[in-house]
Amino acid sequence: MKFSQRIQKVQPSMTLAISAKAQALKEQGIDVIGFGAGEPDFDTPDNIKQAGIDAIQNNETHYTIVSGTHALKDAIIEKFKRDNGLTYDRKQIVVSCGAKHSFYNLAQVLWDEGDEILIPSPYWVSYPDMVILANAKPVILNTDESSGFKITAEQLQQAVTPKTRAVILNSPSNPTGSAYTKQELEKLAEVILKNKLLVISDEIYEKIIFDGFEHCSIASLSEELKQNTIVINGASKCFAMTGWRIGYLAAQEEIASAVSKLQGQSTSGPNSIAQAASVEALIGEKTPGEIQKMVVEFKKRRDTLMDRYAKIEGVSCYQPVGSFYSFPDFSGVFGRQWNGKTIEGSLDVAEFLIEEAKVALVPGIAFGADNNLRLSFATSMENINEGLNRIESALHTLRS
Ligand SMILES: *Cc1c(COP(=O)(O)O)cnc(C)c1O
Repeated sequence: MKFSQRIQKVQPSMTLAISAKAQALKEQGIDVIGFGAGEPDFDTPDNIKQAGIDAIQNNETHYTIVSGTHALKDAIIEKFKRDNGLTYDRKQIVVSCGAKHSFYNLAQVLWDEGDEILIPSPYWVSYPDMVILANAKPVILNTDESSGFKITAEQLQQAVTPKTRAVILNSPSNPTGSAYTKQELEKLAEVILKNKLLVISDEIYEKIIFDGFEHCSIASLSEELKQNTIVINGASKCFAMTGWRIGYLAAQEEIASAVSKLQGQSTSGPNSIAQAASVEALIGEKTPGEIQKMVVEFKKRRDTLMDRYAKIEGVSCYQPVGSFYSFPDFSGVFGRQWNGKTIEGSLDVAEFLIEEAKVALVPGIAFGADNNLRLSFATSMENINEGLNRIESALHTLRS
């Protein structure tokens, strides 16, 4: 079969591959603890489920406006005002089939061959591939634990060329759990405005934050910056609604209208029932309490994990301020022997851990960081403790 050049240039998602491997072992009856989860282990809160049920009963089962129902757009507008101090109108909002779809649409309408898109690493796996699918070029900006996995203004400035079109920010971050403070964003903003870059700000973890950290949307820093920023958000992570497939973006009208045009010739509007449920998720009175319950649980798990990592020789971990991921550094065990082989990178560690410890972590190379692995704490405390016991004992068997 002859396939398009476009599809041949992209990689299948590696995060999905590790879940598939863990699943295959489980089907053989092997007890594997999966830390690969890219979604909350909580179910969708009852008030939101009920809104979906009501939508079915009320026959909200027809096509909707391509860019989203008025009710949902109004709820999104209210959310932006309430949570981010941002004012938008309906023409600036496009609802899509998940935030991933929002990003994909954007890449398709904004970029062409030759355009350079700056992506801080470690990055969410899908950004570079979606940029490539738009024939544009991902330019990776490396960060590590010493800078809290954040880019600096100087680093951003140095990466800019006449071909640079945009920079992608994901705060709080998947996979590191790091997040930019307002002051850090202000420094980046100067470079962004000076070079007339667009910012794609993926804020899907905005409410999963710990220790009183305050989420700031870069779009809220000034009117000028708001013009240059496309904010992406969605229902999946903060409301435990991954399967409902609702994401959205807010942008200047011209961009929103181009995205809507593309969507009109591809998926059309997202699922009508999921849109109705998302209204409840965004502005329902019970939602803040539901989110709070999840965040409290995530924080306990994060704290447990940090205690455990501190006691494991060869492992260190940046303390996440948000999201439900930790991104431990395993480079301390590189060079040790297993199975007659030398462990040299994150793929080797992942293979060793799944074979010897029966725990599934995602190799950091998928996110552009080969010293680390992603361990998701969207799983029970019991799994976390048992999984960490296994990791600790397996690492003890490694020979230097
Ligand atoms: C999960 C995730 C998304 C997309 O989620 P959808 O389910 O498509 O809304 C987008 N960005 C990041 C960083 C994510 O982790």
